[in-house]
Amino acid sequence: MTSTATDLSQTPTHSETSTDRDLITARHLINGEWLGAADTERINPARPGELAVLSPTGTAADVDAAISAATAAQPAWAALPAPARGAILMAAGDLLLSRQAAIAADLVREEGKTLAEAKGEVKRASDVLRFFGSLGWAATGEVLPSGLPDTTITTRREPLGVVGLITPWNFPIAIPAWKSAPALISGNAVVIKPAELTPLSATHLARALQDAGLPAGVFNVVHGKGRVVGDALARDPRIAGLSFTGSTKVGLGLQEILNARRARVQLEMGGKNGVLVLDDADARKAAKVVAAGAFGLTGQACTATSRVYVTPGIREEFLAALVEEAAAYTPGDGLGRDGSSPAAMGAVVSRQQFEQDQAAVRGAVERGATLLCGEYDGGTDAGYLFPAAVLTDLPFDDAAVTEEIFGPVVAVLEVPDYEAGLAAVNDSRYGLTAGICTDSLAFATDFAARAQAGVIKVNRPTAGLDLNVPFGGVKDSSTNTFREQGKSALDFFTWGKTVYTGV
Ligand code: NAD
Repeated sequence: MTSTATDLSQTPTHSETSTDRDLITARHLINGEWLGAADTERINPARPGELAVLSPTGTAADVDAAISAATAAQPAWAALPAPARGAILMAAGDLLLSRQAAIAADLVREEGKTLAEAKGEVKRASDVLRFFGSLGWAATGEVLPSGLPDTTITTRREPLGVVGLITPWNFPIAIPAWKSAPALISGNAVVIKPAELTPLSATHLARALQDAGLPAGVFNVVHGKGRVVGDALARDPRIAGLSFTGSTKVGLGLQEILNARRARVQLEMGGKNGVLVLDDADARKAAKVVAAGAFGLTGQACTATSRVYVTPGIREEFLAALVEEAAAYTPGDGLGRDGSSPAAMGAVVSRQQFEQDQAAVRGAVERGATLLCGEYDGGTDAGYLFPAAVLTDLPFDDAAVTEEIFGPVVAVLEVPDYEAGLAAVNDSRYGLTAGICTDSLAFATDFAARAQAGVIKVNRPTAGLDLNVPFGGVKDSSTNTFREQGKSALDFFTWGKTVYTGV
């Protein structure tokens, strides 16, 4: 393994970070100090022989120290005028953008996605910080009439205090940014536990916030295992609210812990997002929409398309076009390899996830499904490179149709008509995103009203979201109480107060 270390905590401004270094070290950030022995290795999933990042293994004591720092720092942070808080967020957004190329390269090495996807994600994190920073100037609260004489009623939003954030590996800088920014602009202090597989990307976010002038203790990072660091965060009574994104299994466990101590909890979890393709759609356009949703980001998006229902008249043409589209998503090293250009589709994040994808496809085929493309042909020496797979001829209750795979795999099933297709899309424990490909305004409008998902896409891929609009799911995809992103994200991180003022 290569080991020329560049310690992120030691880099004075970090703007000189180069893309050709072969190792970087993440640390905890506690009370403004970079701490922890970086003893956990993470390999590059596109080059399994290469070390991508070293990070510390946090303990409950680290979490305790981070929460103590956040508790001490929060009142002064909340007392700062909101535009001053916003200015720091906007400056951090600018810093992320100025470091975009270097951070994106690190993100590719630790997560496996393509450089273009990683650059887009860093830009998104920057935009998110700038968006919420600008809200420092936006009025919140209302002035309302009172039934009493000489009385004015106003409403205010107050910060929760110290909040905990637990994030997954698949958007390792964007998700930490879209949780942190609304928390911070609202006057909260933060303790974040990033995913074990991607410690570096969140560390870049922390570095940008620190370099932008965020006071010590307002934003703290503790790396490590979910069941140690994440659990300690969830159980600490000083954490007034916990926002989690990750698997449904872990999320529901956290919900019990938070509910037991009556603290606020926000969960964004798994998905099994369905698309309905109707006879009146353009088969090629529909195939492009489905392929982008299913194979973009290596299928490792909670919003990825993983099941498609087609009506009989378009089935053959659509499947042929989808297989053609899938061929364009050749997996490889997102940074390029041996002088070749970056791959069209990145690597799967880990051996475990790779084996999970493989088992899902093999299992479906053993149960009688037809694999139209995505034949997997062997080892992982050249990286966890999984081909874009299209399955068909499956029963509606096959595991490949009902359970989240989280890889570049899509199942295509035939339905007799629109109503049967809508029912099939809704027949799921999940409800994150749902899509329809149609030229019919009537079907599109009906689908938007009746599909059971938090986000509906008409003739657009199920994956891919704007930062200024609400995002979240229903059923087992979400707590379905507070939405993320846009101004709605502020609701989770604040509580409402009604003030009567008499003269
Ligand atoms: P995961 O649930 O394994 O881990 C998510 C985070 O929780 C990690 O930081 C992990 O360390 C932590 N964690 C694990 N066990 C814990 C415990 N016992 N207590 C506290 N924290 C714990 O998920 P993942 O593999 O990192 O991410 C993939 C999953 O995330 C998929 O199911 C995907 O659908 C989901 N996801 C959802 C959204 C969304 O917005 N709905 C977005 C991205 C990913």
